[in-house]
Order: sequence, then structure tokens, then C-alpha cells
Amino acid sequence: MSTVEGMPAGDRRRSVPRTDRVLGDERVAPAVQRLGRSLVLGTVREVLERVRGGELEPEEAVPAVLRALPATAGSMRPVLNATGVLLHTNIGRAPLSTAAVQAVCAAAGTSDIELDLATGDRGPRGRGAVQALAAAVPAAGGVHVVNNGAAALVLAATALAAGREILIARGEMVEIGDGFRLPDLLTSTGARLREVGTTNRVSAADYEQALGPGTGMVLKVHPSNFVVRGFTGSVSVDDLSRVARAHGVPLVHDIGSGLLAPHPALPEEPDAATSLRQGADLVTCSADKLLGGPQAGLLLGRADLVQQLRRYPLARALRVDKLTLAALEATLRGPTAPVLVALGTTAAQRVQRAARLADVLRSSGVQAEVVESVALVGGGGAPEVPLPSAAVAIAADWALPLRTGDPAVLGTLTHGRLLLDVAALDPAADDAVVAAVLAVASSAG
Ligand SMILES: *Cc1c(COP(=O)(O)O)cnc(C)c1O
Repeated sequence: MSTVEGMPAGDRRRSVPRTDRVLGDERVAPAVQRLGRSLVLGTVREVLERVRGGELEPEEAVPAVLRALPATAGSMRPVLNATGVLLHTNIGRAPLSTAAVQAVCAAAGTSDIELDLATGDRGPRGRGAVQALAAAVPAAGGVHVVNNGAAALVLAATALAAGREILIARGEMVEIGDGFRLPDLLTSTGARLREVGTTNRVSAADYEQALGPGTGMVLKVHPSNFVVRGFTGSVSVDDLSRVARAHGVPLVHDIGSGLLAPHPALPEEPDAATSLRQGADLVTCSADKLLGGPQAGLLLGRADLVQQLRRYPLARALRVDKLTLAALEATLRGPTAPVLVALGTTAAQRVQRAARLADVLRSSGVQAEVVESVALVGGGGAPEVPLPSAAVAIAADWALPLRTGDPAVLGTLTHGRLLLDVAALDPAADDAVVAAVLAVASSAG
């Protein structure tokens, strides 16, 4: 098999191409331009090690380097979401729409993020995104964008309640995930928490009794990742706003998942427009959950409060990048965000898609079966709303090769089979999923 094989080791080493010769090869040079020298050099060294070990012929080195080079200089790889969880935090929550991706690319170089091109003067930062947000929620007198939902809360708590009290219902002391807890986040600002009510019940009178001159803000938090059932009671935004207003204290409502207006499929999920109409002074939320945009935190509400927060020194440390502003604006102005398209799909459409995928696989000799499944919103939203869905069930052993393939395909292992759920899967990715499964099937023999 090898001309090198059987030679004394010294001869084999001599026939290994030199690193700089491979790097300088005309087929490799464009990759050096595209990916940078050090990244290509690392790959060249790995491949030459394999030549040295006799695993590759010397003349196979350059083609092997070209095959082994990554597509981009970054290590983050696309993952096709066949988990049935629309907003999966571990794979980046909401996928951006094509329009948002294009806006990100357009803004990535130098752009007019903070410049008025007509006058040549400095302009308000991210004006387009701010205007789009204001247009999407007319009930908001002012809007501001920060790094994420947690940052929006921190900014509100710091500017309105540092050194003072935040009133919060005991049943709304939420852990948001990865060990982060809202109470810790809030007290880290220097505000003190004053819990009202009990785990399961709180009344307007509880707030009323706790309100006083030391109260900086009243906070209502949507329990977006759990539900309490049974003997429960909470105070509506309407009622709470009356109590807070009577004491001249702002009511901040953390609605969590970022619905700007009611969504028919999620009747229990609070939205910004309704909350403001019912009397919240400020609404905070994430932009990468049900809004379907980039990671960001939104503050919407009373113009004077938003202005106060915007000018607060901490705001500068929480400000977002031009890429975020570009993606947010395009999400708000552009076509329906992918997560909302997925949410609006009917069960019948999901079954049909899964059936087509399974047919294509079976026609290529792969064992695949359509099964009913239950998809979820996920990402800390609508924990109890099941989305009837369908999945393609294939061999469980294929989970690892699919997950480590390119693109990676992430499904769920259930009852000894790998389920590829279509609910969260980009419809444009169906062919890529089929190709990935076929590639794994063929290498599995
Ligand atoms: C998700 C969530 C947060 C945290 O938002 P991030 O954007 O993840 O920082 C805070 N509060 C509620 C109610 C949430 O659902």
C-alpha cells in the first residue's frame, strides 16, 4: 500500500513534506488567506503527523489538509435543531431570520450605527432598532435595548431601587437557569428585596402593607419556567399598578419571553402591549425568546423612566453591539421570525413533514418511522403548553455520529430510538437532515 512502508524510519521522515512547502502550496494558499496562517498551520501539522505515522502517503498531505480545514475561522458550528424544543438555550435560543442574518452582515463592517449620514453629525445609537421597537409597541412611551433580559432587570433595579427596597411576591423569586437566581441578581445591585405574600398566594393588600417611603420599585415577575397549581392567587397588573401608583412607586413587569403583543397559541403568556395598557410603568423582557431575535434585553414603558435608565451610568456597561441592533431591527421589521413561524405551524403540517422525511429515508433503504411527539416552546417560556408534533424515529446509535457531524443534527433519545422532531427544525434544513442521516447510515454499513 505504501511506498514508505518497509523503509527505515529515517527514510520515511525524510519523505514527509516540509510544513512550509505545504503551507505555500498553491491549493493551500487561498485557505491561509481566508482562515489565517495559524489555524491552517495547526491543521497542516496534524496532517503531517499522520503522514509521519504512515497513515497517509506524502502526496495525500495537501488534499487531506484541504479536507480537514474548518469552514470558518470560528469554532462554533451550526446545529440543526431536531429536539422539538423551539427555544433551546444550549443551542442559542431563537434562530435569526434570513433577513436578520443579512442585516447583521451589512452592519458588520463600519456602519452608520451612531452617525447621521445626511448631516454628518453624530446620531442616536441604533436609531432604526429603537424606532422599530417603538413602532411595534405603540403603548410604550420610550424603549431601550440592553444586553439581555437579566441586564434589563439589573438596570431597572439599580436606577430605581439601589439602597432601597424592591417589593416582589414570594412566589416570583425565580431561578432562571444555569444556577442564576433573580433574587441574587436583584440584590447584587444594592437593592434590598422585600418579599410579600406566600409561595402560593399574594394579594393587593400584601403589597399595600409593605409599600412605604423606602420602596424603590414594585416588581412583578412572570414565572416563565414553572407553574403553580391549586390554591393560588396573584395580583393582576391592573390591580398592582393602582396600588403602586397610589404610592408614587413604579411598577416593573418582567414578562420574560418577549411577546410584544398577544399570541393566539399562547393565551397565558403575558405580552408587552397588554401589560403596559394595564398599567405597568416598565416592561422588561428578552429578545431571543418568543420575539425570535438576537440576544438582547428590552425595556419598554414610561418615557421619563426609560430616559432615566438610558442615562444611568450602568447603561453604558450594558449597551449592545451594532450586530445586535441590526438583527433586532430586521427581526422587528422583516418577515415573521422563524420561532413564530414554527409556533404557527399546525400539527397536521408537522406530521406531513415528518412523513415526507421518513419516506425519503426509507426509499434509500434506511429504517425510519413517523411517530407522534410533543414539542415545547422551551427557553423559559410557556412550560405547560404542549405542541402536538411528529418525529422521524431512527436507530439510537446514530445519535452520536449525527451530533458530531457537519452540520450537527441534534435529536432526542426516547425508548431506545433517536427521534428527529420537525417542530423546531428549519423547513429549509429538511434536505440537510436527510443527507446527514444517509451519510451516517452508509458509514454504519
Ligand atoms: C428568560 C428570563 C429572564 C432572563 O432573561 P435573559 O435574556 O436570559 O437574561 C428573566 N426573567 C424571566 C421571567 C425570564 O423568563
